[in-house]
Amino acid sequence: MLEVVFLGTGGIMPTRERNVPAVAIRYKGEILLFDVGEGTIRQMNTAKLSPMKVDRIFITHFHGDHYLGLAALIQTMNLWNREKPLHIYGPKYTFEFVQHFLNSGFFRPGFDIHVHELGETRLKFKDYEVWSFKVEHGIPALGYVFKEKDRRGKFLPEKLREYGLKPGPILGKLEREGKIEWNGRTIRLEDVTGPRRRGVKIAYTGDTEPCERVRLFSERADLLIHDATYLSGEDRGESYHSTVEEACEVAKKARVKLLALLHRAFRYSYEEYLSGASRACREFGVDFVVPRDFDVLTYRSGAWHKSNLLEGER
Ligand SMILES: [Zn+2]
Ligand SMILES: [Zn+2]
Repeated sequence: MLEVVFLGTGGIMPTRERNVPAVAIRYKGEILLFDVGEGTIRQMNTAKLSPMKVDRIFITHFHGDHYLGLAALIQTMNLWNREKPLHIYGPKYTFEFVQHFLNSGFFRPGFDIHVHELGETRLKFKDYEVWSFKVEHGIPALGYVFKEKDRRGKFLPEKLREYGLKPGPILGKLEREGKIEWNGRTIRLEDVTGPRRRGVKIAYTGDTEPCERVRLFSERADLLIHDATYLSGEDRGESYHSTVEEACEVAKKARVKLLALLHRAFRYSYEEYLSGASRACREFGVDFVVPRDFDVLTYRSGAWHKSNLLEGER
């Protein structure tokens, strides 16, 4: 199962209703964190997400609202006697900034911390990849793509019958080895399976102006989480952020399935922002969500299902 948990959805500074950015992807028992705004550990506690399941943290850029929760998160891991290593990824200067954190206060981590400074790259893990790409924010800043590995197509019963194959260890062997000898014939996995199933793709921009790299890297994503700080260009002024309309335009061009509008400025109430966003997204014909803190998007049967962890508690 794959879940996206929005731990912080507001931009610039925390308010009573929303914290600053942190997006968790829960996948096969692991939690990947994208940005760790101040207070992320508290948000994780509320969401009942264990920091001990976090092995990889991806930071988009070093503006306070995206990384100031890192020291508290690391110290909490230490408090709980973490032993396994932690990997922290980020743009240029990540090494330097993380070192500052590690050297502050009476604190030494009892586990290894590996820091990785990235340009545009593809990191390959067992069941998924994470791609980093450059965005436009006036300082070194990255966006990330989480891409689940594609899976083989389903076994086709009529094909199995045709080749005289029955479910059992022989299919396991075919899956492992890609081909088998059977009744004097060579059978390849693709002879008896349907088309490959595309893994889920999620793109997260962090803070950025609308840019071509985002469109390119989020092409046909199942979910694009885009900076949409402002409702209008006038509100945005000269800042390196995007408006809702600009996020919609990128989502439309990249043919993404669902757009999540993140990092809204604290000047807007949820209702005001939602009605502006609805107008813009309807105009572009883009499916969208305006996540609140603790909203969860679960990917099931080829579609996203939205819920909130505090439902009924508000
Ligand atoms: Zn920000
Ligand atoms: Zn920023």
